Parts: sequence; structure tokens; C-alpha cells
Amino acid sequence: MIPIIKPVMDEREVEAVRRTLLSGWVTQGPEVKAFENEFSSYVGSKHACAISSCTTGLHLALKAVGVGKGDEVITVSHTFIATANSIRYCRAEPVFVDIDPDTYNINPELIESSLSEKTRAILCVHQMGMPCDLKKILQIARENNLPVIEDAACAIDSEINWKGNWEKIGKPHGDIACFSFHPRKIITTGEGGMLTTNNSEYDKKFRLWRQHSMSVPDTVRHQAKSVIFEEYTDLGYNYRMTDIQASIGRVQLLRLPEIIASRQSLAKKYFEQLTDIPGLDLPFEPEWAKSNWQSFCIRLPEGLNQKGLMQKLLEKGISTRRGIIPIHQERAYELEKWSCGTRQKDCNCSVNRCKKLEESEKAGVKAIILPLYPHLTESEQNNIIVEITAFCKKKINL
Ligand SMILES: *Cc1c(COP(=O)(O)O)cnc(C)c1O
Repeated sequence: MIPIIKPVMDEREVEAVRRTLLSGWVTQGPEVKAFENEFSSYVGSKHACAISSCTTGLHLALKAVGVGKGDEVITVSHTFIATANSIRYCRAEPVFVDIDPDTYNINPELIESSLSEKTRAILCVHQMGMPCDLKKILQIARENNLPVIEDAACAIDSEINWKGNWEKIGKPHGDIACFSFHPRKIITTGEGGMLTTNNSEYDKKFRLWRQHSMSVPDTVRHQAKSVIFEEYTDLGYNYRMTDIQASIGRVQLLRLPEIIASRQSLAKKYFEQLTDIPGLDLPFEPEWAKSNWQSFCIRLPEGLNQKGLMQKLLEKGISTRRGIIPIHQERAYELEKWSCGTRQKDCNCSVNRCKKLEESEKAGVKAIILPLYPHLTESEQNNIIVEITAFCKKKINL
């Protein structure tokens, strides 16, 4: 069976876990600290703060920039549901802006008309590893005095051309970026995430909140020569990463350049071999962006059945995933508050259907995500290409 993705791990990760377990310190401690330092050097940020997941990280990021009850946050519906959930955790309301159908990322041209006096932040997403148009997004944000948080869950080691130089996502170009180490992403710690920022006030808040807003962390008390009583100064959370996870992350980070090189060469082959199928849309990479190819998403020609192709591939032992289902079409958001940037009555949108989010809705039913990971062999990838080509050509000739 060819899965959609497979983590790259071997004895080196096992050895790191072994070392940590035998060290006697397993929760957030020296390994987390080292992972944070190595991560910030890698992406070029001043600070990096490890957390338990990207979802919990987004919650802290929104809270740090001051998002609270009744505020609105500009984001996309075409994303993993956690993006919008993190806004709801702050009791704020996601305002969904439609995507550009070529990049599957927020269409910056549609942001301005979605702003209101309640807008408090922009939470943009580098979907499937493709950088979103940060230059335009930041320009709008700065003009309107809004902080920008980048949901970079999928975008570790993706790059953006910034004033003539290639820079890594997470430097960050906005105010805060947030990464995920879930196994569906590029490198993994089982579960885990990382917040990067150049703002030391935000970083201080993350560090306080992630461990119950404890005034003196347990690592410090553990080493202290005199008795220290800690205080809890603010509502906090348990959003810590463990040292066991961080020790895996440190090895994964060393593998990252190799993983990306391999993903890029697999993506190149898909581009070369699938390009001749009439009407099949391949991913679009703007000249100012370099994707890490976390997902390779194709869009089927008119008249071709998404589920049909997915079933056919599954019968041949090939897993695929459908495109991202927009959040406003999920049951949870029949109950949770959201809007599409107009007062609802101007839009006439019904539950599940929104004219203003047409491209987001289309992407879900037309797109298919293909297997792509370093262990994918040449013959497995050839097989995938052959099956897709056969399916599309047969249907087109009919
Ligand atoms: C995976 C993902 C998340 C959630 O990451 P976790 O680490 O699983 O919490 C958030 N946003 C996007 C865009 C994602 O793809």
C-alpha cells in the first residue's frame, strides 16, 4: 500500500529518545531549549518557542496580539479546521476570504473589502506548503494597523523571495509564524509545534502561557539552591512540548534539507509526467515562492469524477486525499460563528453555501492530493502516474 505520506525516521531518532529517557528529565527542559535554538537559527527568527501543537500555538499567537471576545480575524475557509478553531478559542469570529484558485491561498485582492472596525488580526495560511502572497498581505495589514500571524503548519523550509533574497517561511515576515510537527507535515515529533517571532514581548507571553503562567518554571526550581515558591499570574495552559518529542525534532531538523531535496525531485517528476493530460491542473508556484511540496494537489478536468479516480487508485494500492473541504461546510461551523466579510444579508449565503467563497468550495470537490514522501520509490511513483494518465485519457476519449 502506498500511503499519502510517511515520516523519515531511523535509529538516530531512537538513539535521541533513549538518551532523553535515561537522562531523567522527560518534560519541557534542555532538549526543548536546544530544539528551539536550532529551529530559530534554521528559519532565521530571533525567537522560537516550542508548544504541544500548531493548534495550541495559533491560540497563543492570537491571544498575544490581543484577539479577544467579539473581534474579527481575517482568514480562509479553505484550510484545516484548526485554523478557524484557534480563532474561536479566543471567542473571536473568523472572517473567511476566498482563495486564488491557482495557489489555493488567500486572494489578497479580497482582503480589504472584508475588513471592518472589529477586525483585529490577519491569520494567513501557507496552504500545502505554498507560501501565500505575504508582500501584498503585509501591505494591507500595515496600512490598517493589523498584526499578521502566519499559519505555517505545512510550510517548514518553504521559501519566499523577499527584496531579492530567498528567505525561509518563519523568519517571520509577518509578526508571528506557527509550525506543526504532526506526521502529516514535513518533519515530525509525533505531535508538536513551534512559534517563531522577532518580538520579545510576544515570545515572553508564549513562554508564560504554555506552562500554566507559572512565574518560575520547574527547570529553574529544580536547580535552585534556595526554596522558590512559584506564582500563577495569569490564565495559563498546558501547551508544553516534552523533551522526548524535542529530542526527535532535533534529529528531524538535521534531516530537513535532504527531505526537501527529495520532495522537490518527486514533485518535478509529477510536473513532467502529468503535464500532457488535457485539462488537468497542476500546482502553480509563483516565481517569488518555493514550495516544500507538503502536498501535491492536482485538479481534475471538467467531467471527471474525483471519487472515481480516488477509488480506482485505492484498488491499485495507492492512497490519495481529496482537496481541502472548506471550514464553512463542516458541521461544526453550522454552530460556530463565522462570516464571509459581508453582513450576512448582503450575501444571501445559506448554511454550507456561500457565493463569496466559491473558489474555496470548488477546490474541495475537484482536487486530489497525491502521495509524496522521500521513501516513495521510482517504480511506485511511475505506477501512480500511469494509473492517473490511463484514467484521465480513457474518460476524455469517451
Ligand atoms: C495541520 C494543520 C494545522 C494543525 O496542526 P496541529 O499541529 O495538528 O495542531 C493547522 N493549520 C493547518 C493549515 C494545518 O495544515
